[in-house]
Amino acid sequence: MATPNQIAKELLESGKVAVVVGYANGTVPGKTQTLIARTAQQAEKFIFNKYCINNLTVYLTKSYKLPKPIGIFVKGCDAKTIVGLIQEHQINREDVYIIGLPCDGVTEQVNGDVLGKCRMCAVHTPKIYDVLAGEAITEVPVDLNKRFARLDMIEKMPVEERWNFWMKEFDKCVRCYACRQVCPLCYCEQCIVDKTQPRWIESSPHPVGNLSWHFIRAFHLAGRCIGCGECERACHQNIPLGLLNMKMAKEIFEEYGYVAGVDPEAKPPLTDYKMEDDEHFIR
Ligand code: SF4
Ligand code: SF4
Ligand code: SF4
Repeated sequence: MATPNQIAKELLESGKVAVVVGYANGTVPGKTQTLIARTAQQAEKFIFNKYCINNLTVYLTKSYKLPKPIGIFVKGCDAKTIVGLIQEHQINREDVYIIGLPCDGVTEQVNGDVLGKCRMCAVHTPKIYDVLAGEAITEVPVDLNKRFARLDMIEKMPVEERWNFWMKEFDKCVRCYACRQVCPLCYCEQCIVDKTQPRWIESSPHPVGNLSWHFIRAFHLAGRCIGCGECERACHQNIPLGLLNMKMAKEIFEEYGYVAGVDPEAKPPLTDYKMEDDEHFIR
């Protein structure tokens, strides 16, 4: 079975891809960094291990504009983003060569526990790939009833307490937008928060502007966020952005039976209309 760096070398040597986006060792133990290789020699540095956390599909959008076709290392959770980007016509399937990575789980610390998302993972082997870099992993069924369990603490709070909780969290936000930059599905060329003529949203870290920013971020990702967790991981203020994303995902699932990142042919519910859609909220 070929290793990820052997696969990348072969793809570059044969000219099947113009670049490969993957992982390389970082500068300290337990950390990895992104490597974009254009030659087979550069591809020798590729690795894959439990410290390869980043969702590299972010390099398929935004202003990176890498030459195509793009070879890319993709874990099962990251592959859901590719599904979303295909659905939203941000990438053509033929422009991306997916090097699928069977994955047991990733961790942020040397010998640390795997991330929470890995404990509920049902995609240890990616559902979409061109070549698999390793043996497929047999999925052990997970209890889907527990996938929104993280929300329990917030949903149990009375409304006022919940409001105070979020206002306190949003108050910590310094509007650095690291959460936006790291999100592969947050790809608008001009984000509404950067618009100054007219200025729709207060841009300084002020409670009113912060509330607007977090509302907009959560709603723009509703039914689209695939739960990679990168936004929350990027937030140095430790704002639990994943709770907002998860609440949106739960509402979308309960209202429309839809899960993001599964079917490239499916129409995301917020871009679609069906006669039987619930309209109780329209007065
Ligand atoms: S969620 Fe699954 S595929 Fe993603 S890092 Fe965790 S174990 Fe790997
Ligand atoms: S990364 Fe955190 S602090 Fe920065 S804008 Fe996002 S939520 Fe605010
Ligand atoms: S978890 Fe965060 S970074 Fe990942 S897709 Fe959802 S909003 Fe984007």
